[in-house]
Amino acid sequence: LKVVTDVVCPFCGTLCDDVKVVLDGNRIVDTMNACIIGNEKFKSAQAGHRVMQPLEREEGTTQFTPVSYDYAVEKAAQILAKAKRPLFYGWSSTSCEAQEVGNELAEVCRGVTDNTATVCHGPSIMAIQTVGAPQCTLGEVKNRADLIIYWGCNPIHAHPRHMSRYTIYPRGFFTERGFDDRTLVVVDPRPTDTAKQADIYVQVEQGKDYEVLDALRTATRGEDIPDVVGGVPKAQIVQLAELAKTKKFGLLFFGMGVTQTIGKHRNIDIAISWVADMNKYTKFSLIPMRGHYNVTGSGQVMCWQSGFPFAMDFSRGYPRYNPGETTSNDLLRRGEVDAAMVIASDPGAHFPVSSMKHYAKIPTIALDPHYTPTTGVSNIVIPSTMVGVEEEGTAYRMDNVPIRCRKVIDGPEGMLSDEEVLRRILARVKELKGLP
Ligand code: SF4
Repeated sequence: LKVVTDVVCPFCGTLCDDVKVVLDGNRIVDTMNACIIGNEKFKSAQAGHRVMQPLEREEGTTQFTPVSYDYAVEKAAQILAKAKRPLFYGWSSTSCEAQEVGNELAEVCRGVTDNTATVCHGPSIMAIQTVGAPQCTLGEVKNRADLIIYWGCNPIHAHPRHMSRYTIYPRGFFTERGFDDRTLVVVDPRPTDTAKQADIYVQVEQGKDYEVLDALRTATRGEDIPDVVGGVPKAQIVQLAELAKTKKFGLLFFGMGVTQTIGKHRNIDIAISWVADMNKYTKFSLIPMRGHYNVTGSGQVMCWQSGFPFAMDFSRGYPRYNPGETTSNDLLRRGEVDAAMVIASDPGAHFPVSSMKHYAKIPTIALDPHYTPTTGVSNIVIPSTMVGVEEEGTAYRMDNVPIRCRKVIDGPEGMLSDEEVLRRILARVKELKGLP
C-alpha cells in the first residue's frame, strides 16, 4: 500500500488540502482526514456508475450505443456549430483550465455560458457587485475570528470539515484555546444539527431574513426596533448586535437559506451593509458558503475572460450579462436556446421540470465522469477523468484562494480530461465555422 499526502478534496468549497489517500496500485482503498462525503468522492473514481466510454442516445429512445471519442467529438461539434444560441451550463466540478477553454467555445458558438451559481450564490455575486464586500481568507478566520455566525446554512452536513478546519474548533494564532475562544451563532428557521452546537440559536421565520438583518442593522446603530421581527424577539436581536460589538473579529457565513429565499440578492445586500457597519466597532467580514468545489473558480475565470461571473451571453458577438434573462433556467423555460452542453454538473437532478422539458427536446451533450439524471436525457454523453483524483487542475476555495488539486491515480485507459475534450470540440467547431 502507498499513501499519497497533501491531497486536495475536490468535493465542496472548503477544498480541504490535508487529505491522505491510501492506494493499492492504481486503486484507492481508503482516505484519511476526508469527511464522509469527501471519502465517497475519491471512492467514486472506481464506482459502478462511472461512464467508461462515449455514448450516443438512439433517436426517440432511452437506449445508448457506445461510440468512439472521435465520433462523439464530431457529433458534439456539429450540434454546437449548427446551433444559433447554444447553452453551456455547469462548470463547478471541473478545473479552471477546462472552464477557460469552455468559455472560449461558448464565445465561438455565440452561445451562453452559465455556472451553478445561477441556482445557488448568484444573488450573493449580484449583491457584492452592487455594494462591495468586506471579505477575508479562511486562514484569517482560523487565526483571528472569535465570533462565527452561520446564517441559512448547515455546514455539519454540507461542508462537514468547515467548523473543524477553520471556524469553531481549530486553535489559531490569536485563538489559542480554539473552541473556548469563539462564540457560535446560528440563524436558521430549522433547529439544524449546526444550530444544536450553537451558543446562540436564532430561529428566524422562513423568508424573513431581510427583516431580521435590517432590524439587526438598526439595533447595531442603537435605534429602536419592534418587539418581534421575523419571529425573533427584540431582546435577542439587541443581544446579538451588542455581542458582535464586543468581539475582536466577527465572521458571517451565509448559505442558500438566505440567497434562494424571498429577497434573494437584497438579503445579501443588507447582510453586507450590516457587516460594513460593524467595521465601525470591530473587524467583521463575510464569506458565502460556496457548494461545489470550483464554482468560485468558474466565476473567477468568466470574470477575467470577459468581465461577468455567470449567465454570460455571447449571442450578440460580445459578452452580455443580465440575470433573469441570460440565466439558464430562464433561457430553457422560455425555449430560447436551441442546443445545450452540460459540463461537470447535473441540472437533471436540480433544475425544475419545466427547464428540463426543453432540454430533452433540443440536441444536447453531457460531459461527465458519471451517469447522472442529466446524462440519461442527453443525446451525446462524453466521459472524462476526475479532476483532483485522476487529473491535476486549479480550483478556487470559497474564500477565493486558488488551490492546485493533485492527481492521485491514473484514469481509466484512454479516458480524456474535460479540458482535452473541450479543446478537441473547440478546434472542430472553429474548422466547421471557418474560423482561425
Ligand atoms: Fe471534502 Fe468538503 Fe469534506 Fe473537506 S469538507 S473533505 S472539501 S467534502
